[in-house]
Amino acid sequence: MSENAYDYVIVGAGMAGDAAAKGIREVDADGTICLVGREPTPPVTRPALSKKLWTDPDFAFDDVWLGTEEQTGATLLLGESVVGLDPAGRTVTTDAGRTLTYGSLLVATSGTPGGPDVDDPAGTGLVVRFRTVDDYSFLRERTRDGGHAVVVGGSYIATELAAALVQNGVGTDLVHAEERLLGAVFPPVLVDRLESRFTQAGVRLVPGTTVEGGSVEGLDGPVRLELSGDRTHEADVVVAGFGITLETGFAADAGLETSEDGGVVVDERLRTSDPHVWAAGDVAQYPDQVLGRRRVEHVDHATESGRQAGRNMAGAGEPYTHTPYYYSVLFEDRYEAVGTLDASLETVEDWQGEDDPQDKGVVYYVERESDEAQDVQVRGVLLWNVDGARDAARHAIASGAVRADALPGRIG
Ligand SMILES: Cc1cc2nc3c(=O)[nH]c(=O)nc-3n(C[C@H](O)[C@H](O)[C@H](O)COP(=O)(O)OP(=O)(O)OC[C@H]3O[C@@H](n4cnc5c(N)ncnc54)[C@H](O)[C@@H]3O)c2cc1C
Repeated sequence: MSENAYDYVIVGAGMAGDAAAKGIREVDADGTICLVGREPTPPVTRPALSKKLWTDPDFAFDDVWLGTEEQTGATLLLGESVVGLDPAGRTVTTDAGRTLTYGSLLVATSGTPGGPDVDDPAGTGLVVRFRTVDDYSFLRERTRDGGHAVVVGGSYIATELAAALVQNGVGTDLVHAEERLLGAVFPPVLVDRLESRFTQAGVRLVPGTTVEGGSVEGLDGPVRLELSGDRTHEADVVVAGFGITLETGFAADAGLETSEDGGVVVDERLRTSDPHVWAAGDVAQYPDQVLGRRRVEHVDHATESGRQAGRNMAGAGEPYTHTPYYYSVLFEDRYEAVGTLDASLETVEDWQGEDDPQDKGVVYYVERESDEAQDVQVRGVLLWNVDGARDAARHAIASGAVRADALPGRIG
């Protein structure tokens, strides 16, 4: 093969890309693998960037690397983006003008995080759209001596970052559009608990508020924010924990089937509408056996679907049967979830804490056929400080209609 021809090309050197390279190696010991990644750094375990690196003194910076190159022998082309795909010729082109030929291709590009619209003509980077290891390093350096940060957004990543910053002596405001913190996700008793825990830790919550604009003075700051309701606010650094816009334009332009939200549509083997192209991680819109067709922007899915796609690129031909969970950590509380967590659904709450009921418990998010119906269908399960119950949560969703009063006591 020529220098730029590989048996396997992986677009996106992130968590799914890393898992795919390792999955390929489980089946094919010798095939050549190339990962192309926009970030200048090799794949990292992203959850640590907003949690352990800030809160676990035993977790060192060097623990973030996933060891892709060392463990698989893959070639990493970093700081380079794929901008074009030719499925007929089985090539991709990069923004560095390189053309790579592939036998099998994986799309694992996730997306670009959004953030508030703040003028930064000097390119200070003081509004951090947090996603990468470089974002972590910048924020860490910027807040080394404390200072004052504004975290913007109501996502779980925004809440994790606010908790991380305040626990490291940084004055922290959390500006979010919702009236209650994580109110769209959790039932009111948990929202109460979280709001008081954040406030007690010193985070100033600024609910029901959006950032309408702003500007950065210069490298020394401050960042001036214009908030809804004609308010203004200043900070040394602003951290955005918004959602992402998927990076799948090159796949759609090449004619791969995509979903309305820009996901790359795959079958149960994670293969796209082109037989030589697979997709995994955040971008893959796949048929989940329990939850139905969906995209999942979480780490368990990234590693499991990445590994399965890698195995299948190497010929394993196996269906992806894993129903993923996700997790987060906020101060002392750790939660895991399977399925749909939507506070507008009815909930059945099974609190099991001894001192405070909400120290531990299970929340079932359910739907009823009618108001009078006794039976409910479980759509999502929240495991609040409950370990080892993910399979039981999957089972509760998969096992069809059940009496609502039979749910408490089932898990825990
Ligand atoms: C700070 C943070 C904390 C998180 N914490 C949790 C958690 O606690 N629990 C949980 O379940 N999930 C968590 N997640 C989500 C989880 O990390 C992601 O779902 C997972 O990383 C997705 O894997 P991926 O490979 O699809 O995307 P990524 O890991 O984001 O990798 C995609 C890579 O593709 C690159 N790329 C994009 N476009 C191109 C292109 N055209 N060419 C080349 N490269 C490209 C990107 O730069 C990126 O490096 C967290 C995410 C972040 C950012």
